Amino acid sequence: MKRSGIRIIMELAESMGEETVRLEVGEPKFRTPPHIVEAAYQAANQGFTGYTPNAGYHSLRSVFVKRLNLDYDLHFKSENVVVSVGGVGAMSSALRVLTDLGDEVLIPDPGWPNYESIATCAGTVARRYTLDPQHGFIPSPADLERLMTPKVKVLIINSPSNPLGVVYPEKAIKELYDFAKQKDIFMLSDEVYDKILLGGKHVSPLTFDTDGRVIGIYSCSKTYAMTGWRVGFAVASDEITGQMNKSQEAYFTCAPSVSQKAAEAAITGPQECVEEMRQTYVENMSTACRLLDDMGMEYVKPQGAFYIFVNVGCNNSLDFAKHFLQKSKVAVAPGNTFGPSAERFIRISLASSNEDIKLGIHRLGEFLGL
Ligand code: PLP
Repeated sequence: MKRSGIRIIMELAESMGEETVRLEVGEPKFRTPPHIVEAAYQAANQGFTGYTPNAGYHSLRSVFVKRLNLDYDLHFKSENVVVSVGGVGAMSSALRVLTDLGDEVLIPDPGWPNYESIATCAGTVARRYTLDPQHGFIPSPADLERLMTPKVKVLIINSPSNPLGVVYPEKAIKELYDFAKQKDIFMLSDEVYDKILLGGKHVSPLTFDTDGRVIGIYSCSKTYAMTGWRVGFAVASDEITGQMNKSQEAYFTCAPSVSQKAAEAAITGPQECVEEMRQTYVENMSTACRLLDDMGMEYVKPQGAFYIFVNVGCNNSLDFAKHFLQKSKVAVAPGNTFGPSAERFIRISLASSNEDIKLGIHRLGEFLGL
């Protein structure tokens, strides 16, 4: 497995001291809202400290499915939800039950680096479909068609997307679902940024699913600033969740009990914190876009998630990120860690502070001689 370019930059940045501007990491700078932390404390004191069922506490599955059904006009039961160790755990569990060794999985380029490592660890082969700027970075069935072999079992899509921030319109989601149906493959839909919309409207392919081929992946990590608590969800047919339930026992048994109680409080509690964080990302995006526009730089304006993908015109984005860090003390994520099509890009996190974003982009301009 390849090393993540983001981790390489993170470790270098950590060795460089406190004054380094950190724009490489993909997590909210906010602390978990206090009512969620308090609920976890209460739960631990009340004895929610043992193993939970493999698929998670029934109470959590039930509040999550209620919210999901309301948000997207769906009709799932709590049995269709598997609680897992973050979105990563949910995706890994799902992929393991959907595929056999040597099967192929279609993943986006550029796309979140873990798709490749998750597919590799499941004993499958990841094959990248390129997201074309001419098509607004939205996957086209014609491009996917060219990658089809009898071994392809799963199409992974991600909207709102990391690193691009693209939110797929309803028509595109429907076309992708139709493609999966026509080819009789599963569709793993990574929707962990569904509540972080900076402009677009989120549509889940679960809405169109008539025959249980879509697996929706959700998470508390980004929505509630809970990255370290490790709670995510897979939503799928009874058959798939039944198999995932068994398979989780072999890998991590269950998501942590106290974290599950915290997640329950997050979902049932006040949602103003989600909106406040979202507003901050919108402000950070406006700041970043204004500064990049002033410098005449090309970038992808995000409609969701909390990243901005900037074309710095380099030949090797990892080398670029290292030099920029060493010379200007600003850490950014190198584009090539998201796939070969993004070699000329860097990713800046909008979940950092507004001050750091301003400072980082000013230094980028100086570094590029703009
Ligand atoms: N999917 C995408 C696109 C992500 O960027 C991340 C985290 O960075 C995840 C899934 C998984 O997050 P977690 O496992 O914390 O839920």
